[in-house]
Amino acid sequence: MNIRDESVLRELNLYPLWTRRGVPVQAESELVRPVPVEEKQAGAVSDGDEVRRSGGSEADTGTQQPAMDSAARNPSGEIALDWNELKGKVHDCAACKLRAGCTQTVFGVGDENADWLFIGEGPGADEDAQGEPFVGQAGKLLDNMLAAIQLKRGNNVYIANIVKCRPPNNRTPEPDEIASCLPYLQQQIALIKPKLIVALGKTAATSLLGRDATLGSLRGTVHDYRGVPLIVTYHPAYLLRSPAEKAKAWQDLCFARQRMTT
Ligand code: URA
Repeated sequence: MNIRDESVLRELNLYPLWTRRGVPVQAESELVRPVPVEEKQAGAVSDGDEVRRSGGSEADTGTQQPAMDSAARNPSGEIALDWNELKGKVHDCAACKLRAGCTQTVFGVGDENADWLFIGEGPGADEDAQGEPFVGQAGKLLDNMLAAIQLKRGNNVYIANIVKCRPPNNRTPEPDEIASCLPYLQQQIALIKPKLIVALGKTAATSLLGRDATLGSLRGTVHDYRGVPLIVTYHPAYLLRSPAEKAKAWQDLCFARQRMTT
C-alpha cells in the first residue's frame, strides 16, 4: 500500500485496514458482498440517513411543469438535446421556485464520456457560489471516496445533482422541484451513457428509482435506471456527520468497483 492509499483510507476512517484473523488483506474482495442483480422490495420508513430531510421520488410529479418543454423532445417523447443546448436550457431555467433563491445553476462537472456517474442531491452554499457540484467539505470527502477506488473527478467520472439550483437553507428539494429538474439529469445521462451510476444518499436514490425506501435497504444491490446499472451509497455530507458509517460506504465503493470490472 502506498502513502496515497494510506491517506485515503485514513480519511475514510478505515486505516489501519480491518482484517479477519488468518485472512490475508485483500481490501476489495474481502469487503464486497456478492448480491444478485435484481431490485429489492423496500419499505418506506426513514432510517435517518438522509442528507437533509427525505426527498421525493420520480413518481412524485407534484404540480409544477417539467422544465423541458415539448420542443426539446423527439417524436417518441424522449428529450433530444446536445450538450450546448442542454447547458443553455439549464442556465436559463426558471421552471421551479428554487431558481429565484440561488446564485446560479450548477450543471454538473466532469468527463462527458465518463463510465462513472455520481449523483448527489443538490448544490449547497459552496457549490452555489462556485457553480460546480461537490466543492465544499462533502466534495472533499467525495474526492477521497473516488480516490479510494482509483478514480478522479473529471477523469472517466462525471458528477451531477438531482436538482441544479441550491434549495434554501440546504433543505431537501421538494417533490415538485425534483420532478421539474429530473429531465435535465435524464438528458445528461442520455448524453454521457455511463456504465454505472452511483446514487449518493437517499434523495438521489429514491428520486431516480421512483420509490421511497430506506437507504440501507437500497444498498448492496445493482438497480436499473433506464437501462443503466445503479448502485446506492451514503451521501458524503451524511458521512461527515456519521463517520462510523464510512466503513459501509467503503463496502459500497468496492461493490461498485467490482461491478464495473465484471
Ligand atoms: N451536496 C450535494 O448533494 N451536492 C453537491 O453538489 C454538494 C453537496
